[in-house]
Amino acid sequence: MKKYICKKCGHIVHSASKVNPINWTDKHSCVFITEEVIFLFLDDLRESGITNMFGATPYLQEDLELTFEVAKENLINWMKQFGKDKEA
Ligand SMILES: [Zn+2]
Repeated sequence: MKKYICKKCGHIVHSASKVNPINWTDKHSCVFITEEVIFLFLDDLRESGITNMFGATPYLQEDLELTFEVAKENLINWMKQFGKDKEA
């Protein structure tokens, strides 16, 4: 199972296969990206040393086309997971 996240509203779907865009009645369409892709992007960004990770939000917005809210939330999740990996 992979965790798919809408780039625009942060809606989460857990699925083993690719998730098709969901069209809502309010005309919003969910465009999904996997959490895995976001985390790998953040790993690379960290290794590149381009930015302090607290400044990573604009990179997520620009390169992965996430909204500010979705970028911020995933950055926090990535930081939590990063901490866990280090302890293990
Ligand atoms: Zn959405």
